[in-house]
Amino acid sequence: MFNFSKEMQNLHEKVMQSVGADFAVAEQVMRDNQRRMLQAFIENKVSTSHLVGTTGYGYNDIGRDKLCEVFAQVVGTEDALLRHNFMSGTHAITVALFALLRPGDTLLYASGAPYDTLHKAIGTADDGTGSLCDFGVLYEELPLQNGDIDIDAVTQRCKQGGVKVVALQRSCGYAGRPSLSVEKLEQAAAAVKAVDERIYVFVDNCYGEFVEMREPSHNIDLIAGSLIKNAGGGIASTGGYIAGTAHAVELAANRLSVPGIGAEIGSTGGALRELYLGLYFAPSVVCEAVKTAVYACALFDELGYTVRPHVGAERTDILAAIDTKSAKTLVAICEAVQACSPVDSFVTPVAAPMPGYADEVIMAAGAFTAGSSIEISCDGPLREPFTAFLQGGLNFEASRLALLSAAEKIKNIT
Ligand SMILES: *Cc1c(COP(=O)(O)O)cnc(C)c1O
Repeated sequence: MFNFSKEMQNLHEKVMQSVGADFAVAEQVMRDNQRRMLQAFIENKVSTSHLVGTTGYGYNDIGRDKLCEVFAQVVGTEDALLRHNFMSGTHAITVALFALLRPGDTLLYASGAPYDTLHKAIGTADDGTGSLCDFGVLYEELPLQNGDIDIDAVTQRCKQGGVKVVALQRSCGYAGRPSLSVEKLEQAAAAVKAVDERIYVFVDNCYGEFVEMREPSHNIDLIAGSLIKNAGGGIASTGGYIAGTAHAVELAANRLSVPGIGAEIGSTGGALRELYLGLYFAPSVVCEAVKTAVYACALFDELGYTVRPHVGAERTDILAAIDTKSAKTLVAICEAVQACSPVDSFVTPVAAPMPGYADEVIMAAGAFTAGSSIEISCDGPLREPFTAFLQGGLNFEASRLALLSAAEKIKNIT
């Protein structure tokens, strides 16, 4: 195994020479974030007693509350809710949106169509599912302009009134658009607040945590994300977070549990230790994932494929997208990634229909945590341009073996 041909060994050497500058940036970001992480643990006096959970209602769960304080300090917000009982990133985002919106309010998604799993949460008027629109929220969407937030269109729409929440998505997800940097998100948020500071700005921060030296916070009321992506450091086995202003986080806590009880309840059982440990590791693990994405883009660019982000581009998430142009190549890449995974390496992924997708989707995921995408994972819908979406990588050295195996496997496909 891993006996690469001379051609592939040379290709690896060449790619390693081209990624030096990007790796240096990733390591600098990691050093900064890891230092702030350690500092937050020390300054908040995290102790052994905080790692032990509670049962029942979870009143006075000091470990739970402390974890939220540490996280809020690290992401630069007034308050946070980081909990194992968020079931996914979509759940955390949905709780955040329901917390801020009331019937008759308008939700304006200003970064184009949101991530697929949110479409049904937003829903349509009277769809009978309990979606936002079923509850009487009005929904509008503004597309990006040349890959950027159309700030003029957003402010014009906000001036017309009715908009209660402007939502922005940091990572491109499965859309063929660039991801949005923290700076760009905050510029848009500042423009919205200049029109009316009562309008809430929400950021879907999934895949973005710890890729830059700070998280979206200035002029932003709430951010949300998943703990089986970046912020769980590959160690959290479930969970999500919401962070932001004290007021908005309180509204979210009321929505997550009960109005009037908010963040006071929610026992943590045995979950706290892995949440602390995962958060502590997150900046380092994210750095490995960013290096994996950088390497993937450089490798497949070298092989003549169109990749996003481009080699040398600034990064704000852990994604790499490769337009393979052929179903066979997409399938072969997913098979190679699966075969080089630490768990379920012997399993062959096959394309299958998935709810919410028009085309069959193929997914490789040999992960310690089911569905985790901070661990190396690769997937894509079987349609033009047969894009392989690659994310995660707990450690670069193991992940790049999977990528080189994929490169070897596809080189004779015509
Ligand atoms: C993954 C993701 C989500 C949804 O998170 P889940 O944990 O899969 O529910 C939402 N938005 C973006 C941009 C994502 O990458």
